[in-house]
Amino acid sequence: MKVCKFGGSSVASAEQITKIVDIVTSDQDRRIVVVSAPGKRAPDDVKVTDMLIECAQLALREKNYEQQLAALVERFAEIQRELELPFGIVAEIEKDLRFRLGGDKKHHGMFLDCMKAAGEDNSAKIVSQAFQARGVKAVYVDPHEAGMLLTDDFGNAQLLDESYQHLYKVLYGRDDIVVFPGFFGYTREGRIATFPRGGSDITGSILAVAVRADVYENFTDVDAVYPVDPQLVPAVTQGITAMTYREMRELSYAGFGVFHDEAVVPAVRAGVPINVRNTNRPEEQGTFILQSRRVEQGKVVGIASATGFCTLYVDKYMMNREIGFGRRLLQILEDENVSYEHMPSGIDNVSVIVHEKDFDAEREERVVRRIHAEMQPDDVMVQRGDALIVVVGEGMHYTVGMASKATTALSEAGVNIEMINQGSSEISMVFGVKTDQQARAVQALYQAFF
Ligand code: ASP
Repeated sequence: MKVCKFGGSSVASAEQITKIVDIVTSDQDRRIVVVSAPGKRAPDDVKVTDMLIECAQLALREKNYEQQLAALVERFAEIQRELELPFGIVAEIEKDLRFRLGGDKKHHGMFLDCMKAAGEDNSAKIVSQAFQARGVKAVYVDPHEAGMLLTDDFGNAQLLDESYQHLYKVLYGRDDIVVFPGFFGYTREGRIATFPRGGSDITGSILAVAVRADVYENFTDVDAVYPVDPQLVPAVTQGITAMTYREMRELSYAGFGVFHDEAVVPAVRAGVPINVRNTNRPEEQGTFILQSRRVEQGKVVGIASATGFCTLYVDKYMMNREIGFGRRLLQILEDENVSYEHMPSGIDNVSVIVHEKDFDAEREERVVRRIHAEMQPDDVMVQRGDALIVVVGEGMHYTVGMASKATTALSEAGVNIEMINQGSSEISMVFGVKTDQQARAVQALYQAFF
């Protein structure tokens, strides 16, 4: 049994939805279909989820949203017309959106999630009708009825473990094709909550684990996962055939856009292989993400990079002798609800790398003030505009010379390394550079390792 997830670009138009029906019906094992909200039809298009957010924000500010609402309804209406589905579905969608917009606005996050979820929910309803119109026995399944229970961290929800049993009962062993909306579930109180953005991947992974699927097929708009961002290195043509969960997690965490990093987690626990494939070229085998694979020593599988980091640098003479220094520093960040990404340290100094979006000027001011007051440092500095580059490969383990190859490549390209971090797992090396050197650094590393 296969669970197939189709991303935003695969449900963006009638033409794309027709491809979904073709792909699913071409293989009898494809029984469960998870869909995103309609995404971009062209590079300058707007995703339905972003349109919903805009509409919700207008409603929260008590502004007129009729124009935005009409544009949203039209996105779905276009699909309905082109697929020649019954008109009633568009009227239903409009009614649904108006109902959500009229909902309780006291808790902004809760209201926003309810609106955001409308993209996937209505997408699943339309896709199930597209199957039916082709004579396929398919049914939309409501995450509420299926028992998809999430925590009430609106916009950043996590699965409650008991959901697996509920989902198994509702989804396993059916004779129809299930079309399930991605991205959201329900809290115990019956409120809609969403995963982080891009979270339909997570839904697909959860369903694959719940029904113990043989494979979780993740359909997107590229032939494979590429070892490096083709926008930074256009010369890359060869996709990755197989990689491990650990490698994928490291790469997607550091900016690989193809697959949500949290979506690997459920699959890892149950050992369900993930297959990233292209809706537009289903004949391609895509990339397999597996528990283990044959590893060639010294081989790097991919290079990922992301911007938007900042470094909090603390210097204090004899820091190494001060027990609890690190704990107290991290406690200050914890009190401000800031999660840290890396923490390389020297004898008398430590750097904490955090996401810039979590560390605005006010937070920075409070954190720096507390560090001065509570830790008596010699110096505290915050540097913004950092990029992180991660070189990943199981084959790096126990291989001499990997770091030197990377640093040589960077130095020859004239890139200044601001930070290096290699965990003891030895499957990744992280380099911090200035954002304006990111592209050059990635290109140099690609040259060196591929
Ligand atoms: N539609 C949601 C987003 O744009 C979730 C997804 O597509 O996976 O983030």
